[in-house]
Amino acid sequence: MEVTTLKNSDLAKDPVIAQMSLHNHEQILFCNDNATGLKAIIAIHNTVLGPSLGGTRMWNYANEMEALTDVLRLSRGMTYKSSVAGLNLGGGKAVIIGDAKVLKSEALLRRFGKFVDSLGGKYITAEDVAMTSRDMEIINMETDHVSGLPENMGGSGDPSPVTAYGVYVSMKASAKEVWGKDSLSGKKVLVQGIGHVGEVLVSHLVKEAAIVYINDISQERLKIVSEKYGVEVVTADKMFDMDIDIYAPCALGATVNSDTLSRLKCKIICGAANNQLADEKVHGALVAKSGILYAPDFVVNAGGIINVYYELEGYNRERALSHAEKIYDTTYNLFQLAKKENIPTYMAANRLAEQRIEAIARINAVL
Ligand code: NAD
Repeated sequence: MEVTTLKNSDLAKDPVIAQMSLHNHEQILFCNDNATGLKAIIAIHNTVLGPSLGGTRMWNYANEMEALTDVLRLSRGMTYKSSVAGLNLGGGKAVIIGDAKVLKSEALLRRFGKFVDSLGGKYITAEDVAMTSRDMEIINMETDHVSGLPENMGGSGDPSPVTAYGVYVSMKASAKEVWGKDSLSGKKVLVQGIGHVGEVLVSHLVKEAAIVYINDISQERLKIVSEKYGVEVVTADKMFDMDIDIYAPCALGATVNSDTLSRLKCKIICGAANNQLADEKVHGALVAKSGILYAPDFVVNAGGIINVYYELEGYNRERALSHAEKIYDTTYNLFQLAKKENIPTYMAANRLAEQRIEAIARINAVL
């Protein structure tokens, strides 16, 4: 995809367009409404494959530039995630600026919904940080371009089981790459974060007779999951030094960093958390050098967006799960590309995403 370099002088002169041109963003909608206090930015990165889809995040950004940078980065990430997952979706994202606890109201959300609607379906919104499925219902009063609605409204409901299934098959593909067969039986797997996705992942792993260790900051979650599945709890200070085969980050980002990479003895990193590499370039290269196979997060955790995609067509969980199963092949294929091109796996995943967009753009250009 066409990328330009950005000079500081460009940024000072044209702070918005220069940032957009850096990664070739298509469109930004700035939204303001004094009556409700709504200040939002909707960014559409790329719509070659289909309408842009991505969640709305409400966050108390320090300033507008911080919000703009975030929405541009997140919308671009959605383009790559949907492309590599084989979905006919482009990448978009929205941010509402402000403290959700103070500012969020029905009127503000409905006003936001009207802005989403004004894009005529070029952007479809969903839940993200500080937004709930109830908020999506409210936005839905003003626009049909909303996904991730509750099941009782004909929506797809909680995406976590589909996400967890995608992580599980991706882990099996990683095992095949490392050990020559995809069985996880007897493999020692550390699952960090046993929330919605982590718990379902644990259930798949236990079913396959993997040896599972769990870690979480919630003592309540640890008690529930360890008792339900008979798995061992490990403490945060010890977990990265343990003798394990697979590390599955399913809590928060940036856990693949210089410190953990100097300690981890596993052969595979494969989990649901977003933005696992603390610095994509630095740690993407470092993890490759360390001999650990890193399954790129946005490939592994695509089950969430896959689930929402099937809501747009009239939801059917079987179809969503069957699409999520393809994450196995995608993961395995990107490992082959990384080897062939001698590049880190995250770069191979980006390349697969870009190749698909470029190929479809060529087809779209044919009269
Ligand atoms: P969740 O909030 O249900 O669970 C997260 C769990 O991590 C919680 O139990 C929490 O206590 C624990 N946690 C938080 N900080 C921790 C820490 N420092 N150490 C250990 N545990 C910690 O979230 P989820 O829906 O299960 O999602 C997990 C991750 O996967 C998130 O990063 C999310 O962005 C990502 N993800 C989720 C989906 C989905 O479908 N839910 C889709 C794509 C990506």
